[in-house]
Amino acid sequence: MSAPAGRALVIGGSLAGLFAGLLLRRQFAVDIYERADAELAGRGAGIVTHELLGEALDAAGIAWRAGLGIEVQTRRFFDRDGQLKLEYPYRQTLTAWDRLYDMLRRAFPAAHYHGGKELVAVEERSGGVAARFIIARARELGACLQSHHATAAERANAARFRTPQATLQETATLEFLAQ
Ligand SMILES: Cc1cc2nc3c(=O)[nH]c(=O)nc-3n(C[C@H](O)[C@H](O)[C@H](O)COP(=O)(O)OP(=O)(O)OC[C@H]3O[C@@H](n4cnc5c(N)ncnc54)[C@H](O)[C@@H]3O)c2cc1C
Repeated sequence: MSAPAGRALVIGGSLAGLFAGLLLRRQFAVDIYERADAELAGRGAGIVTHELLGEALDAAGIAWRAGLGIEVQTRRFFDRDGQLKLEYPYRQTLTAWDRLYDMLRRAFPAAHYHGGKELVAVEERSGGVAARFIIARARELGACLQSHHATAAERANAARFRTPQATLQETATLEFLAQ
């Protein structure tokens, strides 16, 4: 692989963010920043796939053909009495959000996927931009305050993050240069 043409930050590490990250990686050094600090999970609904999804998975370099989901060959329409009224061939693959997310997540290098980072601002600087994130630690410590298991030190630390202003002051700044 030739040297990256520059660096790219992708904000949001769900399906679109992972696709963007994988495609950008063909030319750039990419990091994905996701505000959720736990692995994302599906909402229980299935995903009906389209040709474009296969093209995007191919472009992202994912071997998806074996195991994306269930092949459906036909569409059938029934009337209110349950009588079959119409049937025609219509090949599609039915999958699940989690299946798709897992495929993308496994294809993207874990070291460059950063959970618990919520973007709050992007600032232009000479020669690049700086992205500002709230770090999840502030939220975790805030939650600690409510916990009966928190130590005195953790409670004292958590107290620093009680107001929104305090949380915003505890943001981490990551800078990258556009080349
Ligand atoms: C019930 C249901 C059924 C569906 N069925 C289908 C289907 O059959 N076929 C189909 O094609 N699609 C379907 N969809 C849609 C599909 O699931 C969504 O389009 C897809 O998850 C959207 O992905 P996304 O990455 O664009 O957005 P999201 O999944 O919303 O991801 C955005 C991500 O960005 C993160 N984020 C937001 N702001 C920040 C910030 N400031 N800093 C850091 N991170 C941030 C969020 O935490 C989130 O993880 C369905 C959706 C639902 C809810």
